[in-house]
Amino acid sequence: MRVKLAAGNWKMNGLAADLAEIDALAAAHPAPRSEVLICPPATLISLMAARAAGGPVKVGAQCCHPAESGAHTGDLSAAMLADAGASYVIVGHSERRADHGEGDDDVRAQARAALAAGLRVIVCVGETEAQRDASNTLDIISGQLAGSVPDLVTGDNLVIAYEPVWAIGTGRTPTTDQIGEVHDFIRARLEARFGAGVGRSVRILYGGSVKPGNATEIFAVSNVDGALVGGASLKATDFGAIIAALDEA
Ligand code: PEP
Repeated sequence: MRVKLAAGNWKMNGLAADLAEIDALAAAHPAPRSEVLICPPATLISLMAARAAGGPVKVGAQCCHPAESGAHTGDLSAAMLADAGASYVIVGHSERRADHGEGDDDVRAQARAALAAGLRVIVCVGETEAQRDASNTLDIISGQLAGSVPDLVTGDNLVIAYEPVWAIGTGRTPTTDQIGEVHDFIRARLEARFGAGVGRSVRILYGGSVKPGNATEIFAVSNVDGALVGGASLKATDFGAIIAALDEA
């Protein structure tokens, strides 16, 4: 039985004052059935972890460097993120792939480093609109899974987020049939590569313009085990409604 996961990605948003949203979220949803995670900017990880301690909200990071330490000005290692209080890290988000030129090899190295530091990884995959229009979606997803996911994973420490690039921050979403097709495909690829035990345990999140208004229909799709949520994770009322929908699914 996979525990559902509602993961929020605050991206480059949030100052210390915004930690009040975590208090509000924890107060409104003190014992959700789903796992709840917020990935704030790195500047807030330790503050948020201290504030959320003992409550339902776990704290994660949005990226990590593949090296353990060294001359990498401005970067953060997985061990540093764990030390600050993160228990998850997102790798391969399309904004990192686009803004920082991170390819599958980089993402795989980051994921390996994160696992070595004891973090769980959320590996993001997703097609661009041009790739979908060219009917290449499943080939792209297949290639990203093969290239970005390291070999030594378990059902517990790996999460996949399917995030169509064209749906992120746009208010547009695939149809539920399109989401189901990709999630079923990802499940089959995981089972083929890692065996049924691991393959069936890994959670597969949908991400891309998830809102309170569309969460229920998305969570009803087969092999959707939760969501990676950007904009709608910034406010406790919106994210709380998404958590409630996931708890009901
Ligand atoms: C994201 O960036 O991971 C994301 C899904 O963003 P949004 O929910 O804002 O589309």
